[in-house]
Amino acid sequence: MKKTFNPFLMAQEQFLKAAKKMNLDENIINILKEPQEALEVSIPIKTDSGKVKVFKGYRVHHNNARGPYKGGIRYHPNVTLEEVKALAMWMTWKCAVVGIPFGGAKGGVVCNPKQMSRREKEALTREYTRRMINFIGPLKDIPAPDVYTDSQVMAWIMDEYNKYTGNTTLGVVTGKPLAIGGSEGRHASTGKGLTVVVQEALKYLEMKPENTTAVIQGYGNLGHIAAEEMYKMGIKIIAVSDSKGGIYNPKGLNPLKVESFKQKTGSVVGFPDAKKITNEKLLQLKTDVLAPCALENVITSENASKIKAKIIAEGANGPTTPEAEKILLKKNVLIFPDILANAGGVVVSYFEWVQDMQGYFWELDEIHAKLDKIMTKAFWNVVDMAEKHKTDFRTAAYIFAIQKVAEAIEKRE
Ligand code: NDP
Repeated sequence: MKKTFNPFLMAQEQFLKAAKKMNLDENIINILKEPQEALEVSIPIKTDSGKVKVFKGYRVHHNNARGPYKGGIRYHPNVTLEEVKALAMWMTWKCAVVGIPFGGAKGGVVCNPKQMSRREKEALTREYTRRMINFIGPLKDIPAPDVYTDSQVMAWIMDEYNKYTGNTTLGVVTGKPLAIGGSEGRHASTGKGLTVVVQEALKYLEMKPENTTAVIQGYGNLGHIAAEEMYKMGIKIIAVSDSKGGIYNPKGLNPLKVESFKQKTGSVVGFPDAKKITNEKLLQLKTDVLAPCALENVITSENASKIKAKIIAEGANGPTTPEAEKILLKKNVLIFPDILANAGGVVVSYFEWVQDMQGYFWELDEIHAKLDKIMTKAFWNVVDMAEKHKTDFRTAAYIFAIQKVAEAIEKRE
């Protein structure tokens, strides 16, 4: 029988592998292998048909030793508590890898926003916010967008929170529209951060962008920006995909044209001048860089041996299972893990929060320069750690992060 995928067990396995390698104190292991708290809520809303529908929602706090909890909110039919727990744990490590003073959290609602009207999404978001009102706050837990949530959803959360407190608290969520305390550069930040990691990985391998090809799975907020940024660097984007399928052209695609086609038609599929390809086949294309930028559990023990990429830059959270990773490491594939590769979003979320708390806003070039510096430093910290411990980049990133979190726990005692 096929094993059902449990993202939290996967996150724990990754954590325990690094904990063992670094001889982490058993007490710290016991603290960090579980989340500190988890909230489960029922969210009743009146649908457009007049019927009441009840949705399940979660918010998980993994650890706040280094600062307030921070993490996105996902609206997706496959959300589970185990998934949200995994994503919250990954946030703890991610914030520590890039050295920003936050802990890890995540939220999710089991729903299909593609089948909901704007009014229904607003009602759902406001009710979900009310149910977790004591769980979030600018010095407690700061949500942000994730899969199928956006700046509008963040605006509703901020507005609902502010109705409750009676204050204008901009810093309760990040990823907001610019008009209400959002930051320049937040929208593109995860894709830009991922591109910095790819750029440094190419330097590490002494490869030139103009001789490099990339394949990107997922063409949402992260995927399309990553494609555009890599294209600007000179990398040839040979295939991209979304939930409806993929497109492939070995001569290269123009990601800006693909994005405007998707904006018009709802999918990358059907883009002229490219062959249609399935998401599964796309992962197996011969390419230098493969960037999974959709969901977890896409590179598994079933397809890992067929992957031909030299570098995997994990834009999505948890795209590679531990079983797949073992196979890929044996094939000398370099895997730059999610907790490093997609940290650009939380870095600029941190900038947004700092600006909101100060009521003083920065210019875009300042944001880009600071993001670039932080991502580059984090990349080489992970490389150094991998060399020191003679280990893979994921374990190295975990060791780096766990050390920071463990130190914070110890100093508080
Ligand atoms: P979006 O909702 O903007 O985009 C998700 C993309 O994935 C869409 O293009 C969607 O297709 C595609 N997709 C969904 N299901 C599948 C599937 N089965 N096969 C192929 N593609 C699929 O989300 P984000 O871009 O924000 O997030 C993507 C990943 O990046 C997630 O893992 C998220 O946790 C991670 N991440 C995002 C950050 C951010 O700042 N946005 C920060 C850090 C991590 P379609 O367009 O057809 O719906």
